[in-house]
Amino acid sequence: ALTIGIVGLPNVGKSTLFNALTRQTVLAANYPFATIEPNVGVVNLPDSRLDTLAGIFGSQKILPATVSFVDIAGIVKGASEGEGLGNQFLANIRESHAIAQVVRAFDDPDVVHVDGAVNPASDMETINTELILADLQTLEKAIPRVEKEVKGKKREAAELAALQAAQAVLERGDTIFSAIESEGLDMERLREVSLLTAKPFIYVFNADDGVLGDATKQQELRDLVAPADAVFLDAKLESDLVELDEEEAREMLEMNGQDESGLDQLARTGFHTLGLQTYLTAGPKEARAWTINKGDTAPKAAGVIHTDFERGFIKAEIVSFDDLVAAGSMAEAKAAGKVRMEGKEYVMQDGDVVEFRFAV
Ligand code: GDP
Repeated sequence: ALTIGIVGLPNVGKSTLFNALTRQTVLAANYPFATIEPNVGVVNLPDSRLDTLAGIFGSQKILPATVSFVDIAGIVKGASEGEGLGNQFLANIRESHAIAQVVRAFDDPDVVHVDGAVNPASDMETINTELILADLQTLEKAIPRVEKEVKGKKREAAELAALQAAQAVLERGDTIFSAIESEGLDMERLREVSLLTAKPFIYVFNADDGVLGDATKQQELRDLVAPADAVFLDAKLESDLVELDEEEAREMLEMNGQDESGLDQLARTGFHTLGLQTYLTAGPKEARAWTINKGDTAPKAAGVIHTDFERGFIKAEIVSFDDLVAAGSMAEAKAAGKVRMEGKEYVMQDGDVVEFRFAV
């Protein structure tokens, strides 16, 4: 499964947020983190469409898709030097598929800030600098090797150019992810060096009421981190919310003027940042969301349920969620001509409700 690594300076609320995430954890998962075994939190991807489907099909169970977060504790200045636990932190980040950076945006005189003052921009720079330095080290090793191979005609010059373009971005203090579009970086050719800052970033602002109630302030922070996504939440509130039952939690959110919890927002944004998508299946037993990559074809999607489904794929019977709801039932959707038969080339769309036909 794809995972999102949570990083951030000390005292920004990572543990508070992570505890809330693990409280929500739906599965126990086994991850290949050998030495310090960072915690893993697996949370549901909220999807109200599943409730609707369960109503239509009389499903007994609802199984949402999930998003996995890994707590990568305590990145500090100097981590890129590989001192002490630094190497382990970097190894854990390397194994994550996206990076969620928790940034302190709350005032509290009782909580000491490591740099003496709350300053989201400077905190982000501190963390990103460590990741950028680690990437520069990677490139400093890779570039001379590729240079030789280009001279020896074993490689194309474009491969070296791709690495040098990445180096230039890092040298001016930017992450690779932030410059993919603007610099037209050749991500295909950068893949072999697996740079940390080439992973998708999410910024999680651990905010107080002042920031949560201030759209202008939020927009400033959004602009600062674009093209990365930003999530605004109050980690303390989130850790209280997970202690409540559904009804109480809804009331508490309402009192705070939110219609969705921060954890739900984080799950949604994380899922999107990982480049994932779901399709839906439903029957009397269960209404379920299945995770695929954006752009996956129908046989690939079938393979997520069972490899036999992919191997023996014949066709997919598909109705869009909206059409199904408008029709009221599968039979009526069929009668209205809304159920399509799709073949091997079909690219799955968000909200597809699917039944696969296959031969074993
Ligand atoms: P970590 O070092 O990044 O894991 O930070 P912690 O989660 O341990 O939080 C550090 C301190 O800040 C603790 O005393 C938390 O109770 C407090 N804290 C965390 N989130 C918030 C928040 O949203 N608001 C306020 N006021 N305090 C918070």
